[in-house]
Amino acid sequence: MSGAIWAIGEVAGGAPTRLTRELATLARALGDAAGRPAASVLVGPEALAAAPALAEHGPDVIAVQVDASDRPIAAVIAEHVATLVREREPAYLLLGFTDDGRDVAGILQALLEWGVLANSSGVGWAGTGPLAEMSVFGGRLLTRSQFSEDRGLVIVRPSAVAAETAPAPGRVEQVEVAPAADLPAVRIVDRITEASEVVSIEEATTIVAGGRGVGGPEGFGIVEELADVLGGAVGATRAVVDAGWIGYAHQIGQTGKSVKPQLYLAAGISGAIQHKVGMQTSGTIVAINRDPDAPIAEFADLMVVGDLFEILPRLSAAVRARRG
Ligand SMILES: Cc1cc2nc3c(=O)[nH]c(=O)nc-3n(C[C@H](O)[C@H](O)[C@H](O)COP(=O)(O)OP(=O)(O)OC[C@H]3O[C@@H](n4cnc5c(N)ncnc54)[C@H](O)[C@@H]3O)c2cc1C
Repeated sequence: MSGAIWAIGEVAGGAPTRLTRELATLARALGDAAGRPAASVLVGPEALAAAPALAEHGPDVIAVQVDASDRPIAAVIAEHVATLVREREPAYLLLGFTDDGRDVAGILQALLEWGVLANSSGVGWAGTGPLAEMSVFGGRLLTRSQFSEDRGLVIVRPSAVAAETAPAPGRVEQVEVAPAADLPAVRIVDRITEASEVVSIEEATTIVAGGRGVGGPEGFGIVEELADVLGGAVGATRAVVDAGWIGYAHQIGQTGKSVKPQLYLAAGISGAIQHKVGMQTSGTIVAINRDPDAPIAEFADLMVVGDLFEILPRLSAAVRARRG
């Protein structure tokens, strides 16, 4: 396994997250390109339950089944992965651009003293190491970076690759490892789930997103209604999150989430580059905007020019009528 490329995964509801399946696919592709072994690693109380589904993407899965009920999962993952890294000496770890993934990367960086390439929107292989593409300066510049040593951590944004199953699934190996370090004793005292996060925007196949054009927090009512009838999730721009109209969990873009639904319906969103980088790989982009020259017209598949307060309720009613 020495020199291997590992995908460090996350589990939600007993299954690998979409980003975790993307990372496993990426690890396999990089392993193939580099002629190096690849593996996925799952750590936590649902590691074993989620491992077979992850193995379908190719690399073998190393599953560390541990309790994490009263500790932040990122700390639990990092301290076990650090031990595994010392034992098996992989060269590169891929982590997801999520709250937990970034925490895991931070802890591993401190424990292993490895470098980090953060915020990668694409990862290829060049020479002897990964080549990470990152967008900087508000999306105005795309950089390509490599590690100066033959090891490192790469934080990968969602949708950098599409999750694909492999011709033959990998094996699942259950291992027991001791945590690498006694991390500061942060204990979880309470868990609060935001009701609005019931349909996660990262997993949604349909997203109805609202921008400043919705006019205020109450304007999100018609956005939520349409998302609801379409069975989708609600997205938002940073402008409206900063204004406090909706929670950060909904923010899409450079400083929010990256999404790749089949349908992205943008209502009252101008299409700034920092928003575009988080949703441009969506299947079909439909924009509703009263300004025909809004920047989003340049990359939307369909531009509906008009007032969203007229169009959204009529769309919701039409979808409902069609469903009977
Ligand atoms: C470092 C940095 C990071 C950033 N990160 C992000 C990020 O992650 N995500 C993000 O979204 N932004 C981000 N931004 C902000 C970004 O630059 C834009 O300011 C923001 O996306 C604009 O949001 P908006 O489209 O909602 O608002 P606006 O640009 O104000 O657009 C509102 C649109 O609504 C239309 N409109 C108004 N009324 C109606 C109506 N009744 N019917 C139909 N259309 C209507 C207008 O024509 C307009 O096009 C970032 C900026 C910086 C500098």
